[in-house]
Amino acid sequence: MMFDYHVHTPMCGHASGTMEEAVQSAVRKGFSEIGIADHLPLLYMDDPTLSMRPEDLPLYIDTVLGLKDRFQGQIEVRLGIEADYYPPTLGEVERMLDAHPFDYVIGSVHILGDWIFDDPREEERYEDIDIDEFYIAYLEAEKEMVATGLYDIVGHADLVKKFDRRASIDLTPHYRELLSEMKRMGVCFEVNTAGLRWPVGEIYPEPDFVRLAAEMGVPVTLGSDSHCPEDVGRDFDLALELLRASGYGEAANFKGRKIKLVPLA
Ligand SMILES: [Zn+2]
Ligand SMILES: [Zn+2]
Repeated sequence: MMFDYHVHTPMCGHASGTMEEAVQSAVRKGFSEIGIADHLPLLYMDDPTLSMRPEDLPLYIDTVLGLKDRFQGQIEVRLGIEADYYPPTLGEVERMLDAHPFDYVIGSVHILGDWIFDDPREEERYEDIDIDEFYIAYLEAEKEMVATGLYDIVGHADLVKKFDRRASIDLTPHYRELLSEMKRMGVCFEVNTAGLRWPVGEIYPEPDFVRLAAEMGVPVTLGSDSHCPEDVGRDFDLALELLRASGYGEAANFKGRKIKLVPLA
């Protein structure tokens, strides 16, 4: 049983290969499930290189559901989505999530205030901030995101480290608060291997977070955050190693927004 629940498609405008090629890549790697989870249309930005437009969402849904049928018996295809948390757009996000039969929703904080802080084009703004305060504000936003009840999985829970700008303080109390809220709301997180492909060179979230989550009994799932077929399931040997070393023996699958724990491969 191996699965990748965070797979992007060219519909977001910054990924390559076709959706079908991503599924084939997972089949070749012997995966039992693949969850397509492209960016939900970003309503705070009209940038075709960041996400599909709202009018394209039905095509996305139909394409994933078509692959689900076509690959039946070879691999389970799940219909996921990565939805941003940005308070001014919450109502519209909720409406889009309710309108389609998603198997799960990854919630991600990519923007704080007016700053898309993980966009390499905006990296210089790190020079002007207090990095510790920024980490705290980011983790606080994730906690608020979890409390909305709109999301099943916290995406790349410490994305803020992407450019290897690290906090100087001990983040444990903030991790603990976030994880308590996740536990209360029945929300899990993903071990996301994309961090290995950015300057930080480390899986999201960091080992201290994963250990604490295991201790607190918060479920985990797995995602590559791939933006091309070759990256599906990439570095999952390292992800599994991290999970086992942290005390995890099972991980979360989703169907129709319902969580199911399965033994790790
Ligand atoms: Zn993306
Ligand atoms: Zn993301």
